[in-house]
Amino acid sequence: MTKVDLILTGGSVATMNDDFDLFDPGAVAIRDGDIEAVGPADEIAAGYTADEVLDCSGCAVIPGLINAHTHAPMTLLRGLADDLRLDVWLMGYMMPVEHEFVRPDFCWLGTQLACAEMIRSGTTCFADMYYYEEAVADATAQAGMRAVCAETVLQFPSPDALSYDESLERTRDFIQRWKGHPLITPAVGPHAPYTTTAELLQSCAQIALEFDVPLHIHIAETAREVEEHRAKYDMPMVPWVKKQHVFEARAIAAHCVHLDEGEMRTLLHHGVGVVHNPTSNLKLASGFAPVVQMLEMGLNVGIGTDGPASNNDLDMWEELRLAALLAKGVIADPTALPARQALAMATIGGARALHLGDEVGSLEPGKRADVAVVNLCTVHNTPRFARDPDALYAQLVYVTKGGDVRDVMCQGRWLMRERQLLTLDEQLLMAEAADVARKIDTFLIQREESVLSKLLVIGQVAQKKTFEVQVKVYLTAETPVESLLDNPEIQIIKPSVRRQYDTYFIFDDPWHNRLRYREDELLDEDGQVQDLVCRLTLTSYTKDREYARSVLLSRSRFDAPATRSLRFYREYFKPESEIGVHKERQRYRIRYGGTDFSINLDRLLKPDLPGLFLEIKSRTWSRQDAERKAEMIGELLELLHVQEQELVKQEYVELAADAARQSRASQRDEEK
Ligand SMILES: [Zn+2]
Repeated sequence: MTKVDLILTGGSVATMNDDFDLFDPGAVAIRDGDIEAVGPADEIAAGYTADEVLDCSGCAVIPGLINAHTHAPMTLLRGLADDLRLDVWLMGYMMPVEHEFVRPDFCWLGTQLACAEMIRSGTTCFADMYYYEEAVADATAQAGMRAVCAETVLQFPSPDALSYDESLERTRDFIQRWKGHPLITPAVGPHAPYTTTAELLQSCAQIALEFDVPLHIHIAETAREVEEHRAKYDMPMVPWVKKQHVFEARAIAAHCVHLDEGEMRTLLHHGVGVVHNPTSNLKLASGFAPVVQMLEMGLNVGIGTDGPASNNDLDMWEELRLAALLAKGVIADPTALPARQALAMATIGGARALHLGDEVGSLEPGKRADVAVVNLCTVHNTPRFARDPDALYAQLVYVTKGGDVRDVMCQGRWLMRERQLLTLDEQLLMAEAADVARKIDTFLIQREESVLSKLLVIGQVAQKKTFEVQVKVYLTAETPVESLLDNPEIQIIKPSVRRQYDTYFIFDDPWHNRLRYREDELLDEDGQVQDLVCRLTLTSYTKDREYARSVLLSRSRFDAPATRSLRFYREYFKPESEIGVHKERQRYRIRYGGTDFSINLDRLLKPDLPGLFLEIKSRTWSRQDAERKAEMIGELLELLHVQEQELVKQEYVELAADAARQSRASQRDEEK
C-alpha cells in the first residue's frame, strides 16, 4: 500500500488524457501537490491509503478548467460601458479610466476578485495580460491559483510605463523575480501588432527567448485591424509577426479570428497556442474564429473569457458551451466541435496552448493536482444515462453551470470546499470593489458634465484664446473680389484653395456648445487633394453683436487634431444635434497698410440656403425695422423646420437673439 495525502473517490473521473479515459466510479490519489495515480475506485483503494479520503459520488471529477486568455484586474471595470463599438469602448472609456485608476493596488484587488469568481466556477489556471502584472501575479499566488502572467508592452504610454523602453525594463525585472515560482509563469505581453512596432515585437521576442518564458499577444481580432495591417505593411499579419521572430518564442495568440489557411499553417508550424474567445468576439461583433478548421489542422486551441469588461464574466462553463454551439452554427453542422472536444479545449487544449501541457490540463500521474469536483445531483442535471459513458461530456458541456462546482484544488491545495472559498475573503473583496466603483462613477459623472472635459479625456487638446474681429459679408456671385485684390497697396502673401467639410456637434452645455469636426482638404492647381488635415475645435457661444453685419468674436477655443473618425466622435460625444456645412474656400493672407488680414472667400456647397436667409442677412436693418425682421426670422425658422434644415438653424438662433434684442431696445426707447 502506498501512502498518499488525499484520495478523491467514487466520482465519474474524466481524465482528459490522450485516450479520454473515463473511470466511473473512479478515484484520484494525490501526494505533495501532484497526481500519484488515477483509475477505477476499487483499484486505487487496493493500492493506496490516505489520511483524507473525499467521497465524490454523484460528482464529476475533472481537471481544473483553464481560462487561456483574460485581463483579470478588469473585473473592477465590469459593466462600466457596454454595447459600444470597440474604439469608442476602448479609447472613450477603458483607456481614460485605466489611465486614471490603474495602480498596483487596483490590479491586486481586481485579480483577487477575479480569482474568487474563477475558483467558484472551477477554473484553476488562467493566462493574463495587463499592467502591473507583478501585482496580478502576487494576488494570484496568494489566492493559490496558477497563472501565466504577461506584462503588457505597448508602443505608447500605458498606466504603468511612460515609454516602451520602460515597459520592457519592467517586464525583464518582473520575469527575473518570478521565474521558477511553482504557480506563476511570468511572460511578456506585446499587446497586439496594431499597438506595437516591428522593433518592439523583436525586443519582446528577444526577452521571451532569453528568459525562456511565454509570449502572449492578441492576433487578428477584428477584420478592420487585419485590413489596416495589410495596407500598412503590404503583407498579412501572421507572416509579418513571424518576421519579427515572435513565433520563435513559446507564443500564445489570443483571438485569431481573421486568418487565412496559410497563416494557420504558420502558427501550427511554430507550435503557437491559439485562444478562442467566443463571448468577447460576439459581444464586440469581431467575427467568428475558424475554430473547427484550426482543430482539424492540429493546432492547440484553448478557450478564454477575455477581460471581464468585454464578456462580462469569467465563467468558463458558459464559454466552452458557447464555443461548442457557435462552431456548429457557423458551419451549419451539428456534429462539429462535439462536447468531448469542447471540454478538452477548456482543459488539456488550454494547457497546451499555454505551453503547460506537461504539467496540467489532464488527470494523469505526474501532473500537478489541479482538480474540480462538479456536483451532478442537481435538478438541471437530472436524470443521467449510463448506456453511453461519453454522455458525461454532453452533461458537463451543455448542462453544467459554474455554481455546480463543489470543490476546487490547485497543486493539491484546497481553494474551495462545499462552495466555501478557503483562500479569499469574498465579502471584503466585494466591499472594496464597490468602493472603487464609486470612485470611477464620480470620475465619469464629472467628465460627462461638460463637453470640454470629455474632449480633454481623449487627449491632445490645446487651448487658444482668440480675440479676433471677423467681418462676414454675403456676396453675390458677381462680386469682383479678385479684381479688388489686384491692387498695388495689397500684398497677397499666401493664397490657397481648400475644400472644408465641417460637422458641428451642438450641445446643451452652458459653456461650450459647439464642437466642430473639420476635414480640411488643401487642393493643388488641378483641384486634386494635396493635403488633408482633420481638426476638432470646441467653441463657446458667440458674444453679443455690436453691429448688425459684423461679429466680434472673443472666445476661448480648444483645438485638437482629430485622430479618430467622425463616427467615433459622434458615438463618443452624443451631441444633441448636428449641422453639416461643406464649402469651398479660397483663402488669401494679405498685407494691407502694414497689417495682416485673412480673406476667406467661401462658396457654400451644402446646405442650400433659402433666399429668405440671404435677404435677412444682406439687408441693413434699422431699429424701426425690428418688428419686420423678427417676423421674417420667424418665417425662416418655420421654413427651416419644415425642410428639416438643422444645418443653418444655429446661425438663426443668433439671428433670432438679434431680433429679440432690437425689439427690446426699441421698446425701451418708446418707454422713454
Ligand atoms: Zn484580450
